[in-house]
Amino acid sequence: MAYRAPVSEFRFVFDHVVGMDRVSATETFAEATPETVEAILLEAGKLCETVLAPLNREGDKVPARLENGVVRTSPGYAEGYRAIVEGGWVGMAADPEFGGMGLPMALTTAVNEMMGAACLALQLNPLMTQGQIEALEHHASDAIKALYIPKLISGEWCGTMNLTEPQAGSDVGALRSRAEPKGDGTYAVTGQKIFITWGDNDFTENVCHLVLARLPDAAPGTKGISLFMVPKVIPREDGSLGARNSLQVVSLEHKLGLHGSPTAVMQFDGATGWLIGQENKGMAAMFTMMNNARLGVGMQGVAVAEAAFQHALAYASERKQGRTPLGAGAIIDHADVRRMLAQMKAEVFSARTIALACAVAIDMGRATGSTDWQARAALLTPIAKAYGTDIGNEVAQMGIQVHGGMGFIEETGAAQFARDVRVTSIYEGTNGIQAMDLVGRKLMDGGEAAYRLLQEVEDHAETARSRQPDLANDLWNAAEALREGTEWLVAQGADDRNAGAVPYLRAFARVLGAHYHLKAALADEARLPLARVAIKRLLPEHTGLLAQMREGSAGLYALTPEALAS
Ligand SMILES: Cc1cc2nc3c(=O)[nH]c(=O)nc-3n(C[C@H](O)[C@H](O)[C@H](O)COP(=O)(O)OP(=O)(O)OC[C@H]3O[C@@H](n4cnc5c(N)ncnc54)[C@H](O)[C@@H]3O)c2cc1C
Repeated sequence: MAYRAPVSEFRFVFDHVVGMDRVSATETFAEATPETVEAILLEAGKLCETVLAPLNREGDKVPARLENGVVRTSPGYAEGYRAIVEGGWVGMAADPEFGGMGLPMALTTAVNEMMGAACLALQLNPLMTQGQIEALEHHASDAIKALYIPKLISGEWCGTMNLTEPQAGSDVGALRSRAEPKGDGTYAVTGQKIFITWGDNDFTENVCHLVLARLPDAAPGTKGISLFMVPKVIPREDGSLGARNSLQVVSLEHKLGLHGSPTAVMQFDGATGWLIGQENKGMAAMFTMMNNARLGVGMQGVAVAEAAFQHALAYASERKQGRTPLGAGAIIDHADVRRMLAQMKAEVFSARTIALACAVAIDMGRATGSTDWQARAALLTPIAKAYGTDIGNEVAQMGIQVHGGMGFIEETGAAQFARDVRVTSIYEGTNGIQAMDLVGRKLMDGGEAAYRLLQEVEDHAETARSRQPDLANDLWNAAEALREGTEWLVAQGADDRNAGAVPYLRAFARVLGAHYHLKAALADEARLPLARVAIKRLLPEHTGLLAQMREGSAGLYALTPEALAS
């Protein structure tokens, strides 16, 4: 089943659900007119359908491999990458001063979804570069910006992020890589990093590694971490390439999925690096890249969910099995298959709109400088990441179920979606860590940003009462329950907050998803049946989730390791 880019769906969501008009009304994004948005979506959609989607299976069957220290990428990936960079897609959101298009993050996020749906393993490469560009724009010196950003935007060079070490995964503060000042303004970076996405390739001239390392005598933990640009090949001032740097790919991981994306163990042996931002403030700089990547990864989940849904829908429309209420129809006419497809579609819509609402908040925060918008973006980022990738996993699994036994057979492609998307709930901060971020840092304002958002949901439900009283009531009540749940949560200590973090995040996503579904149904009556699925079948889960949240941590710790093992 060929991938079909959901261009008209993005336009609908932009126009009627997430308020893209507010973004285009700002001076910063005045060029993102509806006509430009449409043209860009159409062009990107064409690239995804015709060039990138055909590479997806190829990368799965023929993984990237390491040959005499050189990474060889999957067949067709070099051509696919060239098509991406020639279209200017890497630098969509980047500063025009360096050759970027300066377009809104909302539009970039939509395009990234289509690319991820078409070929997730390849899309990871420009996604990493986009994050790196943003980190450099915010934190690098003028000289580094001028040297690196244009090359990253043009795609001649690409970017990676190097945090993880064997003993430092979620606990980034445990990293041991070292950086010694060389006395000439550069640093000698030494250490081993694991799981580095696109640590090398055979289609860009250079690979620019952003590496977290410790200066001599740095404080322990995250307060003693600095960020360095460590390129594979050291560029001269004019951008031409000089000597090879002292770093290498030691090995590539054999993975459950994403076979086309080389995941590298990197060794840095006194490699020359340049400080990005201030000494010992590396986490702040890396967070710029990670926040960008979190939304991007959340959208990867949506991307795979969309592709898996399209696949399952096509199969269910053709496969005949037994008598259905409508006669000897295809399995799509069985109530349970219809239930699965309805849930898949409803979840994709919810996760997509939450991610795009987050992107709109990022754009508004940037364009207006409003701290309310910035707080909204910060609140929505962990929800977009965790819920989007959870949905990616759940929808891909359901896609296999719709296929029956054929879903378990690789040739249908349904299994690849589930294998590829699995890691999205793990990397870029596991979804457990995202939920802890939501109930910790993101509620440190006493819940202000959350209450503001819930007020909007309730106000909207109030106005919707005259047209859809039943659905509007359910939504209003759920938002109120979530408000009370939030009040309970902010009054708890860290252990109880953390124990309830995942169910709280999910309940939040349930309420937001229902809110956007109702908005969509009010704008277009044809969407009412899907909104009913979201509000009548999925939203009620919030009750159980909030009850789970209020259980706190004591009951979990009462189940001791011994009790677990008995
Ligand atoms: C395919 C792939 C690509 C990757 N790409 C990159 C990359 O490009 N750059 C990079 O730097 N890293 C990358 N990573 C690493 C990835 O970000 C880490 O795997 C991830 O952050 C989790 O760390 P960990 O694997 O050490 O798991 P751990 O930190 O050991 O976590 C194990 C479990 O414990 C939980 N846990 C850990 N700490 C806590 C806590 N404080 N509270 C509650 N629960 C906790 C986690 O949620 C998880 O369920 C990649 C990983 C993979 C698999």
